[in-house]
Amino acid sequence: MGKLKPNKKGKYLIGVDMGGTNLRAGLVDLEGKVLGEAHRPSHAEEGMKKSVEMTIEAAREVIESRSIKKEEICGIGLAVPGNHKSGEGICLYSPNFAPPFPVPVLEPIEKALGLAAYMLNDVNTAALGEHRFGAGRGYDNMVMITLGTGIGGGAVVDGQLRVGPTEGFAEVGHMIIDPEGPQCGCGNHGCWEALAGKDAIIERAVFELQQGESSLLMELAKGDINAITPSLIAQAAEQEDELAQAVLDETAYWVGIGCVNLITLYNPQVLVIGGGIAGALPLMEPTLQQVVNARARMVPASTCKIVPSALGDDAGIIGGAVLVIRELQ
Ligand SMILES: [Zn+2]
Repeated sequence: MGKLKPNKKGKYLIGVDMGGTNLRAGLVDLEGKVLGEAHRPSHAEEGMKKSVEMTIEAAREVIESRSIKKEEICGIGLAVPGNHKSGEGICLYSPNFAPPFPVPVLEPIEKALGLAAYMLNDVNTAALGEHRFGAGRGYDNMVMITLGTGIGGGAVVDGQLRVGPTEGFAEVGHMIIDPEGPQCGCGNHGCWEALAGKDAIIERAVFELQQGESSLLMELAKGDINAITPSLIAQAAEQEDELAQAVLDETAYWVGIGCVNLITLYNPQVLVIGGGIAGALPLMEPTLQQVVNARARMVPASTCKIVPSALGDDAGIIGGAVLVIRELQ
């Protein structure tokens, strides 16, 4: 593939957050500000090739809707879930997208749009965005985790985002925290995400409710135990529901244990927490900080700030823009 060069004379970037359900293309300026967006369904059930077509459509829409000329755009950067050979522009596998794999991602985009295109795993891209324009700005050493259905991670070490030889840096959700713990989607037992991911939180609440504990949760879930979500648990805890707060405290304990390991391994100045469950962070913060303060020893807790993501849902789009920006220097 004759890889296109980034347009160094441009002043805008396209950043794309390719999710399993929806994808968002954003027009971003060189200061990391999102100026406009276009959305499409990902059609992940039809495979990654279809999502690439949707990406091209959304990118065209966001460019046209702002009446921007192609000459004003430096390039396009994509946050894509899964495992990739990003240098070759190929997605090797992505769990929420239907086969076949591998899928060429960048080549069709460059061909259709005439813009230099870059890609990286979604969490690494978000970490890049937070490092350049968000909660990690100004720090040379940062770890970002995303708490959601799974737990993802990205790490900036001595100023550089690390991806590793198989771009598996940093699959923190699968570090084993409790070898005797519950089984994880990856087949192992007691991975961090099996203890602190979305399903673990829900299962913890459901277990307590099945013991006959009373809680506001059943009312919020309209009597349907299968309708319980982390956000309902957070809502109940906000209304001082004891069961819900106990569930979040136990979750915060496991989140904290993982954070201690990351602080000890990476010596970050800042640990950024994003993802769908990060909204419950204020409710988990006291227990989380207590665990980290008590257990981070060789690398003391006082050397690392734990903060919520500053870019929130825009981290993927802004990180996508940074994928291009770092090619301009
Ligand atoms: Zn696992």
